[in-house]
Amino acid sequence: MSAEPRRRTGVVDVGGTTMRRSVLEVGPDGEPVLGEVVTEPAAVEPAGAVEQVLAMAEVASRGVDALGVVLPGIVDDASGTGTWSENLGWRDVPFRALVQERVRVPVEVGHDVRAWGAAERRWGAARGLSDVAVVVVGTGIAAALVVDGRPLVAHGLAGEIGHLRVAGDEPCACGGTGCLEAVASAAGIVRQYNAVADAPVRGAIDVADAVRRREPLATEVWHTALDRLSDGLAAMATVVAPEAIVLGGGLARAGEDLFLAPLRSRLAARLRYTPVPDLRAARFAGTGGLIGAACLAARTTEE
Ligand SMILES: [Zn+2]
Repeated sequence: MSAEPRRRTGVVDVGGTTMRRSVLEVGPDGEPVLGEVVTEPAAVEPAGAVEQVLAMAEVASRGVDALGVVLPGIVDDASGTGTWSENLGWRDVPFRALVQERVRVPVEVGHDVRAWGAAERRWGAARGLSDVAVVVVGTGIAAALVVDGRPLVAHGLAGEIGHLRVAGDEPCACGGTGCLEAVASAAGIVRQYNAVADAPVRGAIDVADAVRRREPLATEVWHTALDRLSDGLAAMATVVAPEAIVLGGGLARAGEDLFLAPLRSRLAARLRYTPVPDLRAARFAGTGGLIGAACLAARTTEE
């Protein structure tokens, strides 16, 4: 973690529905400066998505010193393998080796949420912390866990708190039921609200707006989801004892009053033994993966 990102780093953030690339430079003040972000819709079948990642990586590698690529799903950071992506459908794709065959600059490939965590530690809300969890609550829920200054990876399986079983029998994409992600993610909140509401909404932020208008159904769905999310965060905090939990993703956009403050009081009520971690909003909402990809690429200078 000691290496500074190189002066110009190509960065690629592969998402379930879109793929993005850019160039990151570190300014004279040591702060990250992201160039223009180019976005493409992701291919809908696995072979096409793999080829699209390779092609985008090739373009992103032009005129830079190193390349970082972040992937969704289960990713083995050590080998740069995309182990599994539910949305893109691939299994066991050796992305780092495949990208390295095509580009001239050193390449690192890793997990989008862990990379975001690295970005928050280097430049953002987790700066200076050696025990911290960066939790992304969006379509799914996952955490980048750092304990004693070391990221927990475990072949890419550590930190998948979205699949903690918290309540009920709501089916989850993983095949289980009652997973945190099924009941407390942005997608879970929309699904639960639309199951009971007269007029369906598209996003969790619409539910948040209805909570601000004091609509009873929205308020009940929202607060039940925050109860469950707090259960999950409390379980996580009990295991790894972070000094702070940094929250990003779609739900965090609901802000201090509807999201961070109610979570803070719930966590305090749940944690009696473990110190209550500080809850903070992520700095890099929307760009954490891209900026984190540059942190990954900085590892190539250490070898
Ligand atoms: Zn699950």
